[in-house]
Amino acid sequence: MERFDKKGMMIYPSPLRKIIRDKEKVLVVKECYCPQGHSLINPRAIFNGLAGIDLKVHTNEKAGRVVLSPMVGDKSRIALDVDLQSGEQVKITCPQCDTPLPLYAACQCGGELIALFTTPEKDYAHCVGICNRVDCFNGEVKSGGDMMSFSMLEAL
Ligand SMILES: [Zn+2]
Ligand SMILES: [Zn+2]
Repeated sequence: MERFDKKGMMIYPSPLRKIIRDKEKVLVVKECYCPQGHSLINPRAIFNGLAGIDLKVHTNEKAGRVVLSPMVGDKSRIALDVDLQSGEQVKITCPQCDTPLPLYAACQCGGELIALFTTPEKDYAHCVGICNRVDCFNGEVKSGGDMMSFSMLEAL
Protein backbone atom coordinates (compact mmCIF):
# COMPACT_ATOMS: atom_id res chain seq x y z
CA MET A 1 0.00 0.00 0.00
CA GLU A 2 3.04 2.23 -0.19
CA ARG A 3 1.75 3.87 -3.32
CA PHE A 4 -0.80 5.79 -1.33
CA ASP A 5 2.08 7.45 0.42
CA LYS A 6 2.20 10.07 -2.31
CA LYS A 7 0.03 12.77 -3.77
CA GLY A 8 -1.55 13.97 -0.61
CA MET A 9 -2.44 10.59 0.84
CA MET A 10 -0.63 8.64 3.46
CA ILE A 11 -1.00 5.51 5.49
CA TYR A 12 -1.08 6.57 9.10
CA PRO A 13 -0.77 4.49 12.22
CA SER A 14 -4.30 4.70 13.58
CA PRO A 15 -4.53 7.10 16.52
CA LEU A 16 -7.85 5.63 17.49
CA ARG A 17 -7.94 1.97 16.67
CA LYS A 18 -10.57 1.34 19.27
CA ILE A 19 -12.95 3.66 17.52
CA ILE A 20 -12.28 2.55 13.96
CA ARG A 21 -12.87 -1.16 14.35
CA ASP A 22 -9.45 -2.07 15.69
CA LYS A 23 -7.71 -1.12 12.50
CA GLU A 24 -4.01 -0.58 13.00
CA LYS A 25 -3.68 1.83 10.16
CA VAL A 26 -5.92 4.27 8.42
CA LEU A 27 -5.65 6.18 5.19
CA VAL A 28 -5.46 9.88 5.92
CA VAL A 29 -5.98 12.75 3.53
CA LYS A 30 -3.03 15.05 4.19
CA GLU A 31 -3.65 17.42 1.30
CA CYS A 32 -6.69 18.19 -0.76
CA TYR A 33 -7.65 21.03 -3.03
CA CYS A 34 -10.53 22.74 -4.74
CA PRO A 35 -10.51 22.99 -8.57
CA GLN A 36 -8.77 26.38 -8.22
CA GLY A 37 -5.99 24.89 -6.12
CA HIS A 38 -7.00 26.21 -2.68
CA SER A 39 -6.14 23.86 0.13
CA LEU A 40 -9.21 22.46 1.90
CA ILE A 41 -7.25 21.25 4.90
CA ASN A 42 -8.01 23.34 7.97
CA PRO A 43 -5.41 23.03 10.74
CA ARG A 44 -7.80 24.74 13.16
CA ALA A 45 -10.25 21.84 12.98
CA ILE A 46 -8.50 18.87 14.52
CA PHE A 47 -9.80 15.31 14.57
CA ASN A 48 -7.71 13.16 16.89
CA GLY A 49 -4.64 15.22 16.12
CA LEU A 50 -5.26 15.38 12.37
CA ALA A 51 -6.32 18.49 10.47
CA GLY A 52 -9.82 18.24 9.01
CA ILE A 53 -11.22 18.89 5.53
CA ASP A 54 -13.06 22.20 5.41
CA LEU A 55 -16.00 22.49 2.99
CA LYS A 56 -18.83 24.89 2.31
CA VAL A 57 -22.11 23.04 2.06
CA HIS A 58 -25.27 24.41 0.49
CA THR A 59 -28.54 22.82 1.54
CA ASN A 60 -31.97 23.78 0.28
CA GLU A 61 -32.23 26.25 3.13
CA LYS A 62 -28.84 27.77 3.63
CA ALA A 63 -25.12 27.43 3.31
CA GLY A 64 -22.58 26.75 6.02
CA ARG A 65 -19.24 25.26 6.82
CA VAL A 66 -18.78 21.58 7.46
CA VAL A 67 -15.47 20.01 8.45
CA LEU A 68 -14.89 16.33 7.76
CA SER A 69 -12.45 13.99 9.43
CA PRO A 70 -9.42 13.45 7.15
CA MET A 71 -9.41 9.75 7.95
CA VAL A 72 -10.87 7.94 4.97
CA GLY A 73 -14.00 6.09 5.97
CA ASP A 74 -14.31 7.91 9.32
CA LYS A 75 -17.80 9.30 9.73
CA SER A 76 -16.88 12.19 12.02
CA ARG A 77 -17.90 15.63 10.91
CA ILE A 78 -18.58 19.04 12.40
CA ALA A 79 -21.34 21.20 10.94
CA LEU A 80 -20.55 24.74 12.01
CA ASP A 81 -23.56 26.80 11.08
CA VAL A 82 -25.85 24.65 8.99
CA ASP A 83 -28.18 21.79 9.90
CA LEU A 84 -27.69 18.72 7.76
CA GLN A 85 -30.74 16.60 7.11
CA SER A 86 -29.98 12.93 6.64
CA GLY A 87 -30.58 11.90 3.03
CA GLU A 88 -30.57 15.41 1.59
CA GLN A 89 -28.30 16.03 -1.39
CA VAL A 90 -26.13 19.07 -0.93
CA LYS A 91 -23.94 21.22 -3.12
CA ILE A 92 -20.35 21.49 -1.93
CA THR A 93 -18.10 24.42 -2.74
CA CYS A 94 -14.67 25.73 -1.76
CA PRO A 95 -14.85 27.88 1.41
CA GLN A 96 -12.35 30.31 -0.11
CA CYS A 97 -13.52 30.87 -3.70
CA ASP A 98 -16.96 29.22 -3.68
CA THR A 99 -16.13 27.17 -6.77
CA PRO A 100 -18.29 24.03 -6.78
CA LEU A 101 -16.37 20.85 -6.22
CA PRO A 102 -17.09 18.83 -9.36
CA LEU A 103 -19.46 15.90 -9.53
CA TYR A 104 -17.77 13.13 -11.45
CA ALA A 105 -19.61 9.87 -10.91
CA ALA A 106 -22.95 8.52 -9.78
CA CYS A 107 -23.15 7.03 -6.30
CA GLN A 108 -25.04 3.81 -5.84
CA CYS A 109 -27.39 5.60 -3.43
CA GLY A 110 -28.65 7.90 -6.19
CA GLY A 111 -26.45 10.77 -5.09
CA GLU A 112 -23.29 11.84 -6.82
CA LEU A 113 -19.63 11.59 -5.96
CA ILE A 114 -17.73 14.86 -5.58
CA ALA A 115 -14.01 15.07 -6.26
CA LEU A 116 -11.61 16.39 -3.63
CA PHE A 117 -8.33 16.62 -5.50
CA THR A 118 -5.28 15.39 -3.64
CA THR A 119 -2.95 17.44 -5.85
CA PRO A 120 -3.34 21.16 -6.69
CA GLU A 121 -3.52 20.29 -10.39
CA LYS A 122 -7.18 19.21 -10.55
CA ASP A 123 -6.28 15.72 -11.64
CA TYR A 124 -9.12 13.19 -11.51
CA ALA A 125 -6.54 10.42 -11.30
CA HIS A 126 -5.65 11.72 -7.82
CA CYS A 127 -8.73 12.45 -5.83
CA VAL A 128 -10.97 11.35 -3.02
CA GLY A 129 -14.62 10.94 -4.01
CA ILE A 130 -17.30 11.58 -1.43
CA CYS A 131 -21.07 11.32 -1.87
CA ASN A 132 -23.07 14.54 -1.81
CA ARG A 133 -25.97 12.90 0.03
CA VAL A 134 -25.86 13.55 3.77
CA ASP A 135 -25.11 10.37 5.72
CA CYS A 136 -24.22 8.32 2.65
CA PHE A 137 -20.71 7.10 3.35
CA ASN A 138 -19.88 5.60 0.00
CA GLY A 139 -16.81 6.95 -1.62
CA GLU A 140 -13.57 6.05 -3.26
CA VAL A 141 -9.93 6.95 -3.39
CA LYS A 142 -8.09 7.27 -6.67
CA SER A 143 -4.32 7.39 -6.78
CA GLY A 144 -2.76 7.09 -10.21
CA GLY A 145 -4.20 4.04 -11.88
CA ASP A 146 -5.55 2.64 -8.63
CA MET A 147 -9.09 3.07 -7.46
CA MET A 148 -10.45 1.74 -4.20
CA SER A 149 -13.89 2.07 -2.73
CA PHE A 150 -14.08 2.95 0.96
CA SER A 151 -15.34 -0.56 1.69
CA MET A 152 -12.22 -2.04 0.08
CA LEU A 153 -10.11 0.18 2.27
CA GLU A 154 -11.51 -1.59 5.31
CA ALA A 155 -9.07 -4.37 4.50
CA LEU A 156 -6.00 -2.15 4.80
ZN1 LIG B 1 -11.09 27.50 -3.98
ZN1 LIG C 1 -24.21 8.05 -1.93
